[in-house]
Amino acid sequence: MTFHRLVVKCGTSTLTGGTTRIAPPRLVELAQQAAQLHSAATEMIVVSSGAVAAGRERLGLTQLPKDLPVKQMLSAIGQPRLMALYEQIFGLYGLTIAQVLLTRADLADRRRYLNSRNTLTALLEHGLIPIVNENDTVATEEIRVGDNDNLSALVANLIDADLLVLLTDQAGLYTADPALDPTAQLVTDVIEPDIPAALWQAAGGTSNGLGTGGMITKLQAADLARRSGTTVVIANGSEPNVLTRLACGERLGTWFRPVVTSIESRKRYILAGGRASGSVSVDEGAARALRHGSSLLPVGVTSAEGSFERGDTIQVLNAVGREIARGMTNYNSTDLAHICGHQSIEIETILGYTYGDEVIHRNNLVLL
Ligand code: GLU
Repeated sequence: MTFHRLVVKCGTSTLTGGTTRIAPPRLVELAQQAAQLHSAATEMIVVSSGAVAAGRERLGLTQLPKDLPVKQMLSAIGQPRLMALYEQIFGLYGLTIAQVLLTRADLADRRRYLNSRNTLTALLEHGLIPIVNENDTVATEEIRVGDNDNLSALVANLIDADLLVLLTDQAGLYTADPALDPTAQLVTDVIEPDIPAALWQAAGGTSNGLGTGGMITKLQAADLARRSGTTVVIANGSEPNVLTRLACGERLGTWFRPVVTSIESRKRYILAGGRASGSVSVDEGAARALRHGSSLLPVGVTSAEGSFERGDTIQVLNAVGREIARGMTNYNSTDLAHICGHQSIEIETILGYTYGDEVIHRNNLVLL
């Protein structure tokens, strides 16, 4: 496989096949492909809509209510039903799924960002398939992402996915709406660093009534994800084996090349954290280990300065007080004062809990 960590966004219309009911055969296709990807050591995360549709199906509503609380109610009814289907169908292929519900607020807050990132990483490391949706019941206007296209781009950034697949009911992005314009052509490759204005315009008029997103939110998602180092493809969800073929690099649909590497993007995220809220001093051995790509362990920390929280960006200073790295800390300053100089294995005994062996995981560290 060309890609090793894939986020796939399945919208309501992909899961219902354009009807008003969730279509189990769609989930079977998804599960089959997930199993194939797993056997080739490619991890997969699904960002799945369909909660509102499943709730509506359960209540037998013919019309989709317009007001937000009722939609949130339908989502609360539908989400467990949707997950039960995923659990059952993926289980047939020996796969275990896990539900992850997020809002924009979770990803904007650094501590919650780190928590979500750690949980998703743990799920992937244990060979599980996270099924992500927006936490609709608590997601009011101010804190919600609002559509799962953009949510999937945020998730791709969160876990450093190398491929984001946005499934839709068209072959990809067209130069015009193919239903209205016979000269419309499929765009196969977007390589410009900024998505051309003509494509934004072309995407404007194609949203369908069923899901929340249309082409425009897919384009927003593509724009966001490629800036965090992820390759993005918009492709037809009913194309046979679309995911496994894309993961092998087959040229289906519309491809958006990433505009930065994911390391570059993570560096920017960490450095964009603003002024560091504190610092840790490390010994010579730890400084050397960091330069060789290791994580920062408590045993190499000699002291912690300033007051900071878990998830904050802090400076890493060497023995003579020069900043050698910056990163997101797993422990707050009070905890660090207790565990510095100790082996990671002692963390739990000292604090009564542990957030892992590392003070700063190497994935959350930028060498300066
Ligand atoms: N969270 C919504 C649902 O599960 C869908 C949002 C969207 O389709 O973009 O029904």
